[in-house]
Amino acid sequence: MKLSQLHTGQSAQIVALRGDSAFLHRLSEMGFVRGQQIEVTKNAPLRDPIEYKIMGYQVSLRRIEAAQIEVSMASMTANDPLPDITPNSNSHGAFELDTSAAPHIKVALVGNPNSGKTSLFNAISGLSEHVGNYSGVTVDSKEATVKFEGYKITIVDLPGTYSIADFSPEERVVADFIRGESPDIIINVVDSANLERNLYLTTQLIDMEVPFILALNMWDEFQSAGNHLKIPTLAKLLGAPAVPAVARRGRGVAALLDQIVKGFNNPVTFERKWINYPEPIEKFIQQSSAASRYDALQQAENDTELDKIIQLNEQNSTSSTIATARYAFINGALKESLTRSTAPSKNISAKIDNFITHKYLGLPIFMFLLWFTFYLTFTVGQYPMDLIEMGVGALRDLLAGFLPQDGVVSSLILGGIIDGVGGVIVFLPNILILFFCISLMEDTGYMARTAFITDKLMHKIGLHGKSFIPLIMGFGCTVPAIISTRTIENRGNRLQTMLIAPFISCSARLPVYVLIVGAFFPDSGANAMFIIYFGGVLVAVMSSLIMKKLFFSKSNASFVMELPPYRIPTMRNTFKHMWNRGSQYLRKMGGIILIASVIVWALGYFPVKKLNSTEPHQSYIEMVGKAVEPAVEPLGFDWKMGVSLVSGVAAKEIVVSSMSVLYNDGEVDGEHKLSAIIQKDPAWNIAVAISFITFVMLYFPCTASIVAIGRESGKWKWAAFTVIYTTAVAWVFSFITYNIALLFI
Ligand code: GDP
Ligand code: MG
Repeated sequence: MKLSQLHTGQSAQIVALRGDSAFLHRLSEMGFVRGQQIEVTKNAPLRDPIEYKIMGYQVSLRRIEAAQIEVSMASMTANDPLPDITPNSNSHGAFELDTSAAPHIKVALVGNPNSGKTSLFNAISGLSEHVGNYSGVTVDSKEATVKFEGYKITIVDLPGTYSIADFSPEERVVADFIRGESPDIIINVVDSANLERNLYLTTQLIDMEVPFILALNMWDEFQSAGNHLKIPTLAKLLGAPAVPAVARRGRGVAALLDQIVKGFNNPVTFERKWINYPEPIEKFIQQSSAASRYDALQQAENDTELDKIIQLNEQNSTSSTIATARYAFINGALKESLTRSTAPSKNISAKIDNFITHKYLGLPIFMFLLWFTFYLTFTVGQYPMDLIEMGVGALRDLLAGFLPQDGVVSSLILGGIIDGVGGVIVFLPNILILFFCISLMEDTGYMARTAFITDKLMHKIGLHGKSFIPLIMGFGCTVPAIISTRTIENRGNRLQTMLIAPFISCSARLPVYVLIVGAFFPDSGANAMFIIYFGGVLVAVMSSLIMKKLFFSKSNASFVMELPPYRIPTMRNTFKHMWNRGSQYLRKMGGIILIASVIVWALGYFPVKKLNSTEPHQSYIEMVGKAVEPAVEPLGFDWKMGVSLVSGVAAKEIVVSSMSVLYNDGEVDGEHKLSAIIQKDPAWNIAVAISFITFVMLYFPCTASIVAIGRESGKWKWAAFTVIYTTAVAWVFSFITYNIALLFI
């Protein structure tokens, strides 16, 4: 029978797999091989995808994909169960390390997605790269150098992969790095609680014949589950030193560094091991002239002659036979070294999961969590925001007290810098709260579930669950969101995701929303924010549908996705993440926002009005504004709003700083709180507010995101397309909302 025919709770054994080679590879690296037991744990809210448990971890598959897997519910022994082969303890010699560059050691972190590589990288380097409890967070490699016992150790954090088979972009990055840069030592980071699947990649490292150290990460989870591992035995069987670690608390880092230095000086630490493949394959390897057993195996997979023989002997393809042999090696090694806890697992994770991804409650819970995020951001953020506002006001009064009245200097400082930067800095608490919430959702593993919950909907618009993660990242910042589309294998899907990402409201737009919502809809802040963010998502969905029709009709990427276990986030990581974003925001204040504020001020200050002149006076910015005005007039905007929107092309916070400079008029006394000023300004009303928000919500986030689209898509025409398309969409929607709103006021 087919795997898709099983009901929730049933389990069966895999008998055969069908599909194209990329799909089969993906399955085998995830542990789907003949003889493996698999259990249905649940169906997503829209009955697709389906969540399975295999080798002790959760994975989601679409129904049509599950239909390609033949299973049997008969007892294990009736079919041929997954074999285990006791690894022989023969060593095929030690590695020779090139120590000529000492005292400089180059190491690379390699491991499955979500095994904690970036956490380990951060723990070793003291940096704070983005960590999240879902795959695809790290898409390009990061590098850092540390000093340890007189050695310079350069570590490289590579993207996570389940195997190194040249099938997906991440895999290529890792394979190219190992081959091209030939690091001295590889650190293979594994999730100890999930050894069976994690060691699959390890078997490939063994085949590649490269020296590596096994970092047994998540050791805390492994131990608290009551498992036991004979580390020396496993190390001996793999031919590599093994060090337990808890990366996110920095435990085991010193031991690991120690092991790196030791291994570097004493290469016998690393032994060359062989995984035994069935006879015809071994023969092929021996006859091949490839540089390593791994390369020979890759040739073997593409050899049709060999495949015929294997099909005959094993009733299976060469690549499946190789995968089976690897799992047999892993099973054998674990049989000797691992004692799994026999106590029934408490499975809190499963209980939480049942609730959160519930058939009917899943989507509403997701909506509620989003709403609650905006509630916290808006309502709770109000208090610290008021405090900062008071601080900025006090600073302004203080400076006004001893700066000369009516001079260019005082106007620059008060009307340019303080109004501009001060007008934006007040939103720092909102930004911090938003990132706090995002970080919590990421770290607990909830984000990965949102992809599971929404996969069916995403599929309807021509995307798949994997596109969901870049889009969610877009709530933070569009640039990393665009970069993270690299994990999407299908080119069309990837481009489509990139092109709709600018509609997801990034955090830089938050100050504009908080300002205007605070001024015009103070009592329904959280609801208004929710509607705004949702509006962006809706436009993204609509665009996606249109693009699917116009450009990308074929979308077929499979959705074999690991669902990570729920984890209690560490405050350390959450606060670090929050602080990172906060300081990024502050740096923007001192950089681009400061510069933009001064420019807007200068254009507003010059040409200086001649005393006793009777001619009507117009500043440069007014001239610019008047030129823009006809284009924005139908949307209800005056020239000041037009100029602010134009300046927002550089970054969305600048919309607020420009408004702050323009509306404050450089006066020394009077009201300086921007929301209070626009509330009273006759040019503003609720219809204008809605129209303005709509425009900011939809036109492209900043120049950096446009550059990112150009770079990542490889074609600048897509960057130009995004500028034109998003601006046109913004204009049309603002026009519509403005006119509808006018009917009601
Ligand atoms: P990467 O995808 O391999 O780079 O993994 P990350 O470093 O992003 O970590 C994935 C998740 O595992 C995050 O939620 C981390 O907080 C968590 N994590 C990392 N190391 C450990 C560990 O040693 N123990 C536990 N319990 N969680 C960890
Ligand atoms: Mg990472």
